[in-house]
Amino acid sequence: MPGDAHPTAPSSPVPGAGDSTTALHGGRQYDPATGAILTPIYQSTTFVQEAVGRDRGFTYTRSGNPTVVALERRLGALEEAPPAVAFATGMAAISALCLVLLADGGHAVVSQVVYGGTVRLLDRVLSRFGVAATFVDASDPETVRGALRTGTRLVLVETPANPTLDLVDIGAVAEVARGAGVPLAVDNTFLTPVLQRPLELGAEASVYSTTKFLEGHNATVGGAVVTRDAALLERLRFVRNALGIGQTPFQAWLTLRGIGTLPVRMQAHSRGAERVARWLERQPAVARVAYPTLASFPQRELALRQQRDGGGLVAFELLGGEAAGVRLMNAVRLCSLAENLGAVETLITHPASMTHADVPAAQRRRAGITDGLVRLSVGLEDPDDLIADLERALETAS
Ligand code: PLP
Repeated sequence: MPGDAHPTAPSSPVPGAGDSTTALHGGRQYDPATGAILTPIYQSTTFVQEAVGRDRGFTYTRSGNPTVVALERRLGALEEAPPAVAFATGMAAISALCLVLLADGGHAVVSQVVYGGTVRLLDRVLSRFGVAATFVDASDPETVRGALRTGTRLVLVETPANPTLDLVDIGAVAEVARGAGVPLAVDNTFLTPVLQRPLELGAEASVYSTTKFLEGHNATVGGAVVTRDAALLERLRFVRNALGIGQTPFQAWLTLRGIGTLPVRMQAHSRGAERVARWLERQPAVARVAYPTLASFPQRELALRQQRDGGGLVAFELLGGEAAGVRLMNAVRLCSLAENLGAVETLITHPASMTHADVPAAQRRRAGITDGLVRLSVGLEDPDDLIADLERALETAS
């Protein structure tokens, strides 16, 4: 690893390896000093140089760290791409991408249902630097085409979207964006490369909050951008170093450890979420349930074509609206009321007052983020226990 700070070759140890193999071995390089099977946590600010102008690939941890590079190699390998660029958080990754592509007054077309922090970044921070964003219903590629204008330099979509689970047809939107010479970036946080491959579907970049399923254990915040565009990688690394928004070695080590079990976790999250979603759908107190593989899901055909499974998130609304939803969220015992998703523990969230509170109410309503919407990130507990908890909470709520 030292001496190899920013390798560009695809880095799977076995050509054509399956996801479970790549999640454990992608981009691996045993520690050259000791042979340690796990990449050590290189908890060092600086790296001694052999002579003036001669280093071993690392100089100062803000600009590059061996443990972080090991994570970047693995993330890249999972999408058959060069090593990713890892950031301090998912928002740092999205910020860097926007700064690189939109600086000096660029325009972005963004799907209208996205994580609230992305709306806040564009509307309340980058807008002050002359950056403009148009939020559109990206489930219709023609709407995306209609929003493109001179100066559009990024199309950014989230699919499935946080928190409604609305889908965007990545291939169709990629074609529209490519036709206009605009890069498409997909926030793939909800599914990870194990369940959806944006680059294979035509996107220029996949963006991740590694905080969620990738690390998966509620232990870190982190982010990453994966792309095969060498110039974009270079510009992202430059901005990361300039702003000082890189990932730390310990975060990267924990995320690497999490990724080892990502394929089995995504499978288990999907099975649990599907069971809970089917059960919710049968409850008289539940008005509607969104889960990509349910027969009732309006974009099921797209989900089956584009995704390898449904993922761990379920969104639902009770007949009693916001008041009943709030009573339910206050009554659960096994599920935890918290602002995160993608962890081994089941988390329940009220998007309107938590993750999307900074999105103006009118914009929330347009995006289908009703005040009664409940988001459930199904963890790895026994689904029967989760159902029992929800059943008891539903009785209290109604
Ligand atoms: N993208 C999505 C889809 C998210 O759900 C989140 C956080 O909830 C983010 C990005 C931001 O990630 P982070 O909290 O790691 O900054």
